[in-house]
Amino acid sequence: MQRRAFLTGAGLAAGTALILPGCGKKTEIVETGGLPEVRWRLASSFSKSLDTIYGAAEVMARRVAAITQGRFQIKVHAGGEIVPGLQVMDAVQHGTVECGHTASYYYVGKDMAFAFDTALPFGLTARQQNAWMYAGGGLALMRELFARYNIIQFPGGNTGVQMGGWFRKEIKGLADLQGLKMRIPGLGGQILAKLGVVPQTLAGADIYPALERGALDAAEWVGPYDDAKLGFHKIAPHYYYPGWWEGGPQLSFYVNLDKWKALPEPYQSAFEVACAEANAIMLAEYDAKNPEALMRLLGQGVKLHAFPAEVLQAAREAAFQLYDEEAARNPGFAKIYTEWKRFREQTLQWFKVAEASYANFLYFSR
Ligand code: CA
Repeated sequence: MQRRAFLTGAGLAAGTALILPGCGKKTEIVETGGLPEVRWRLASSFSKSLDTIYGAAEVMARRVAAITQGRFQIKVHAGGEIVPGLQVMDAVQHGTVECGHTASYYYVGKDMAFAFDTALPFGLTARQQNAWMYAGGGLALMRELFARYNIIQFPGGNTGVQMGGWFRKEIKGLADLQGLKMRIPGLGGQILAKLGVVPQTLAGADIYPALERGALDAAEWVGPYDDAKLGFHKIAPHYYYPGWWEGGPQLSFYVNLDKWKALPEPYQSAFEVACAEANAIMLAEYDAKNPEALMRLLGQGVKLHAFPAEVLQAAREAAFQLYDEEAARNPGFAKIYTEWKRFREQTLQWFKVAEASYANFLYFSR
């Protein structure tokens, strides 16, 4: 490839300078001074069928290539192509791949504090998560944890509040949760277990057959757009909201710290800004696609229900009990939890004022 030109001001070593005519001030186009061709592999945790989530990595990679005029190329690999979807963290940590796209709460088995990088039940909404990450100290706090795993991470998408999943029978109160076999992984499953649910962890493709043969009574996935593709509504018609275990789950891009430090600074900037773009666009995609998917589902006989208040209240109590227990035995978790809780409390107070009253009026008064 030929040497490409960058506009001045990019902080690049100057080579040959060309003067463009027509401007009052002289505008220079400067040779890049030999920025290298870089080829990275990205391991995604997700399959291509989750096009909105998987697609965020492609949005990011395309933007990086465009900004660097094709010199920095990132090839996106779906879950299972290089490593299984749940081993992305290990693959990035050990340099099997330079970077990855995943959900940090998959790794709560290593340290429950990784959940703060995605979502905790009854935690932050997408906007609040962004506020905590970009402007509330969350990103720096989480990077201390990730650095111990030789990784630097960047927010990389959000689904917004998820749905509470598909149930074969109605849930009228806590009694209906006893012995209920539900596909719900992670901390949401641990909390529901305290309320009598028997949580199951199944990959997306295995959920429908398990529901069909009665091995599952309920299953949560994402929201209308993704759920409709898997057809749960045909066998478990009661669709509950909200998915309180995922009030604004954030996806993340991971980069191996050694590879990051070796990356030329303009490429680091390109990567960072492309992650921020992917972060914004994923949420926009969901907010645009979920409404029409929900309308379609309702047209097919789906019955929408809110979780009963006693279920939400008991689940919230169990959630904070779980966090307090973890904080008592895990000082790293306790440090982030203290900051997160303080931020959460403040942001809830603020959102209660203008946001909630505006939303209430807008949504419920016609
Ligand atoms: Ca989910």
